[in-house]
Amino acid sequence: MSSEYDLVQQYPWLRSLEKYFSDIASKPPTEFISEIFTNEYGNEIKERLLKLFKAAFDNLEEIHDYKTDKLNLYVYLLLKIFLYALDNRVITNRLANLYSKITYNELIAENSNLKIYNICKDLGFKINYYHPPINYGKKIIKEQTEKFETNFSIHFIDYLKLASNLRDEYRKLVHNSLSDGFVFIQNNRLIRLIQEYVRNKLLIEETKDKSSLNKFLEKATEIQDFKNLYEEILSKWAERKEEFEFKFNIDFEKSEDLQTLFPPCVKEILNKAQEGQNLIHNERLFIVWYLIALDYPTDNIVNIFSKMPDFDEETTTYQVNFAQRKKYIPYKCSTLKSLTLCRAEKYNDELCLIGYGAKEPSERKKLAHPLNYTRIKQYRTTKEKEFMNKKTEEENE
Ligand code: SF4
Repeated sequence: MSSEYDLVQQYPWLRSLEKYFSDIASKPPTEFISEIFTNEYGNEIKERLLKLFKAAFDNLEEIHDYKTDKLNLYVYLLLKIFLYALDNRVITNRLANLYSKITYNELIAENSNLKIYNICKDLGFKINYYHPPINYGKKIIKEQTEKFETNFSIHFIDYLKLASNLRDEYRKLVHNSLSDGFVFIQNNRLIRLIQEYVRNKLLIEETKDKSSLNKFLEKATEIQDFKNLYEEILSKWAERKEEFEFKFNIDFEKSEDLQTLFPPCVKEILNKAQEGQNLIHNERLFIVWYLIALDYPTDNIVNIFSKMPDFDEETTTYQVNFAQRKKYIPYKCSTLKSLTLCRAEKYNDELCLIGYGAKEPSERKKLAHPLNYTRIKQYRTTKEKEFMNKKTEEENE
């Protein structure tokens, strides 16, 4: 078998997939699924797929024992089928992020520029490969000279296509060296662009054609192994989705007292930052992820850190933008408790301490996530306002 064939097995998102595995493409998906689950590696493939979903729902960024062997191809194709079947944008995003991050780590670990070149060629990019690496510039800071060298330059059209969703300042074309329409790009930055390509390959939209999806599901769930796996993924998702699917409607321009919507753990960190106290790493991560989840404007988030001793506006803005793109989920209550960041008792907060949902304490639901705190508070505030407005109207009649 050719090395191209081996490469596709390892990285099944390559274009050559169609060339070498056209037999799979020509099969109806249900036939393909049935064959996979009955072959000798069926159980192993199922386990790997489930592991991917679990890791994505746990917000992990890697799977330490991930294998890119010949089964990887089947895992990838099944993953695409399951993402279609689940038809859920949040799940798709999580899996696309995780899978592409795994790919990035695999490509970095390869430490083979020739392989990266072959991958780029396979993907149809116009790319130049220099061996030995070429010098393309230097930077002098405080009399120290840093030389730039790379093995690659990529045509600017391909560069722009790949980098269009990555908004870091340093990726802008104007900040990169160009020669004859080719952008010099350092090896790990090129791999980062390949990661973005892989992420986009998995980002299928929720389908509009629900009747075709239902027909597919009807047929696919006749295959017992598919049905079991599909239901197991859905049940894992049901355990975690509350943390992912928060919907907020906060108008930051008009809202007068956002503080009333924040749980004690958030208030505490904001107060510390306001007082210019240093925040530990976990406090910083949590507050950024929490405010991003509420669509809090970037400038306001950066401003929160402005009084802190080590504040650096450029670095903080970069980190906030990075977290925004990654869509990290803020820590849940149990994690905050284990990090000793829960402040329910200090603030004697009723919602945190005795829960919500019923008057009778024994029937109340326990608060599991700080974002849920904000959602409930916002809901209550809206109801109170509606009640007050109605009362005023009645009194004026
Ligand atoms: S119970 Fe949850 S929301 Fe309330 S302070 Fe503790 S961690 Fe924060």
